[in-house]
Amino acid sequence: PQPNPQAGAAVKAADRAHVFHSWSAQELIDPLAVAGAEGSYFWDYEGKRYLDFTSGLVYTNIGYQHPGVVAAIQEQAARMTTFAPAFAVEARSEAARLIAERTPGDLDKIFFTNAGADAVEHAVRMARLHTGRPKVLSAYRSYHGGTQQAINLTGDPRRWASDSGAAGVVHFWAPFLYRSRFYAETEEQECARALEHLETTIAFEGPSTVAAIILETIPGTAGIMVPPAGYLAGVREICDKYGIVFVLDEVMAGFGRTGTWFAADLYDVVPDLMTFAKGVNSGYVPLGGVAISARIAETFAERPYPGGLTYSGHPLACAAAVATINVMAQEGVVEHAARLGAEVVGPALRELAERHPSVGDVRGVGMFWALELVRNRETREPLVPYNATGQDNTPMAAFAASAKAHGVWPFVNMNRTHVVPPCNVSEAELKEGLAALDTALSVADDYTV
Ligand code: PLP
Repeated sequence: PQPNPQAGAAVKAADRAHVFHSWSAQELIDPLAVAGAEGSYFWDYEGKRYLDFTSGLVYTNIGYQHPGVVAAIQEQAARMTTFAPAFAVEARSEAARLIAERTPGDLDKIFFTNAGADAVEHAVRMARLHTGRPKVLSAYRSYHGGTQQAINLTGDPRRWASDSGAAGVVHFWAPFLYRSRFYAETEEQECARALEHLETTIAFEGPSTVAAIILETIPGTAGIMVPPAGYLAGVREICDKYGIVFVLDEVMAGFGRTGTWFAADLYDVVPDLMTFAKGVNSGYVPLGGVAISARIAETFAERPYPGGLTYSGHPLACAAAVATINVMAQEGVVEHAARLGAEVVGPALRELAERHPSVGDVRGVGMFWALELVRNRETREPLVPYNATGQDNTPMAAFAASAKAHGVWPFVNMNRTHVVPPCNVSEAELKEGLAALDTALSVADDYTV
């Protein structure tokens, strides 16, 4: 990359004057001006290059500027940039067919949305209409999106400012052995007690009032808590017992991230509805959707579904999805993520945990890993407090600054760093990134007691 600081300064000045950024105190942020991106890297206008260990917001599963997908978008733009959703058009039909071919079980109908949050909104609406019941159960330590229903379903501090008592949401605890709510000492105990807690929650809420249970198959931003064997199958059983719709949110975990097409494949579980976005086309053009089971599709066979979007199944976004899925299949991206996760990332992170007292827990699968950083391994006190907003975030900021200084852009959320590079990252790139994390963890170690 050629340095061009003057151009960078202009981009930055217009950004600071006019762009209102997500989730931020506008005067307290300092966004990096990015000049370009390719594969697993991006670079600034000074010519400094970063290895992207975040995949954007965990969505560029095939990296930046994949030539096959860029060409497909260009071709579609030349042929039919857009067309209204009520018509059958090739890019939309083909994207739906390719997605349905990969989704578990009988999830064979696809309702397209613009992103993940509106996919969650529609999944919940479908569940409520299908059951005629009002409430939805979702987990603490979850994220389901920034729109009103989705943010109310969310189980982390991002919800608090938008919490509305009218949202019809009840939160429960999903399994997470490292910080067990159930005094569990083994995964088996955690699993059994989490299921018992869920069923009790339903009993006390009234089974006939619960339309849906929504879970991230593997919770993402909240900490990549890989559920114990049997948990999701147990939730499936509970849903069947009480006639509750089971919604899996695979917006982050789907499309190769876990080394399978969908995280649900790891557990052999088939939900009634499944939301997706992000990796469906690596976010090259905004796209999300809901995969719908035969039973729920049947509800809307003779009765209109009361919902829609101007850009539902936008041809440009769908063409990007078709190209992305084909590229992933042709290049073996899913298998690659599974192999490098098991053979490189997992062993390397466990080795880092042995040497760095700041690492409390290592968990993950595929290209979906979390390191939980702690002040003290015995007490498991987080390196920064839960919801560090307004509190001292110095240790995580120092960790991130060190990683960046060594050429790696890290994913940081509260006291965790997630290792979530593109699913087609090379082994050499991974090793480069893991070496930078090693150095940055030494900085975090300085804050342990
Ligand atoms: N669901 C999950 C599991 C997510 O991780 C996200 C975003 O990170 C969303 C929903 C919301 O997706 P979007 O930001 O595309 O609306």
